[in-house]
Amino acid sequence: MDPASDFRHKEHTVSATNRAAAHRRRDERPFSVEIGELRRTPGTRRHVHLEASLSDLAVSGSAVPEGAPISLDGVIESVHEGILLTGTVRAPWSGPCRRCLKEARGEVAVEVRELCVEHGDEETTYHLEGDQLDLEPIVHDACILELPLAPLCGEGCLGICPECGADRNVEPCSCAPAPDPRWAGLSVLTGGLAAGGAEPDGSGAGGSTEGRRSRR
Ligand SMILES: [Zn+2]
Ligand SMILES: [Zn+2]
Repeated sequence: MDPASDFRHKEHTVSATNRAAAHRRRDERPFSVEIGELRRTPGTRRHVHLEASLSDLAVSGSAVPEGAPISLDGVIESVHEGILLTGTVRAPWSGPCRRCLKEARGEVAVEVRELCVEHGDEETTYHLEGDQLDLEPIVHDACILELPLAPLCGEGCLGICPECGADRNVEPCSCAPAPDPRWAGLSVLTGGLAAGGAEPDGSGAGGSTEGRRSRR
């Protein structure tokens, strides 16, 4: 059996770095659980609490810091089709604030409910084989889906002045203040005095993960 097949993640999350990580920890699987007895007794369940660090958990805007603890709390249940995991994955993240570029931090907390089967659809289930079940692919995918693409250090971050480059969280600069949106109509009438107000990030991507969770 190809040892890498355990890590054949769902297509949308597979990247070169993920594959490298999978190969590296072939014999070091901190999220692996023994399920022999569970599988032989359908209908039974067991609590799992696992905590370990994983490498190369990153999206374009943020990452789980190297060595940071990632936890999985939940229940594994022997069901007709295989093993059902229900639980919560938690991991800290950090990344540059999209407005001020200073380091922003937070934590992802993801509810997971995933089915692991022996011969299942790779798009909707995870792989199960033998008496050891490696939950790392589930933990990995949950983190990748929730890591913010455009982090904010705080909702009130004032960002960097587009005119002089000053960090407006530290000190106000003497450039024209961003126009009050209530006067936007007026500035159009007056010929748009200042071009300010356009945020450098502009993306509006927020920290939201909506729209990226479409695998079901
Ligand atoms: Zn900021
Ligand atoms: Zn300025």
